[in-house]
Amino acid sequence: TSLTDLVRGHIREIPDFPAPGVLFRDITPLLADGPAFGALVDGLAEKYRGRVDAVAGLESRGFILAAPLANALGVGMITVRKAGRLPGPVIGVDYALEYGTARMELRPETVRDGQRVLIIDDVLATGGTGAAAVKLIERSGGEVVALAMLLELAALGGRSKLEGHDVDAVLVY
Ligand code: IMP
Repeated sequence: TSLTDLVRGHIREIPDFPAPGVLFRDITPLLADGPAFGALVDGLAEKYRGRVDAVAGLESRGFILAAPLANALGVGMITVRKAGRLPGPVIGVDYALEYGTARMELRPETVRDGQRVLIIDDVLATGGTGAAAVKLIERSGGEVVALAMLLELAALGGRSKLEGHDVDAVLVY
């Protein structure tokens, strides 16, 4: 679709960032282009209008996408944050990274029972972050409608951690 072409045309690829051997996909050119950023938010809003009661953004770049999308849809935004950032009470999910572990947290009070939640982030890589977010939303009583990702790095197999859930990627590498 044209949304895919729009995103493809505004992504920078940086070799060896943040570590040797990693090809980092940088979305800052897309964010810096007003019409492109606007068209992306409009396109996502069109896709999910009427289907969701809240948009959950994953810290940090997921926040940038979740806030304008939630506004466009006329729903609230839920923040799924890295460990130690949210005042309590919070629930947390630990997950494995290539080296070490990470933890995402959520204030369960920000999710209503039965609320239809769209999870959004910039990049789906190994799927660990997305899977942690699914658990947090479901443990808080929410229903995950889909995970929307700007980019999916398919070789890393993130979808296998999200089985049973719709994963919508605008652009798949
Ligand atoms: P995962 O948990 O391995 O799926 O990693 C997803 C998280 O890592 C997301 O929150 C992304 O923001 C970040 N990430 C992984 N690879 C990239 C990349 O190439 N560009 C930007 N962010 C990335």
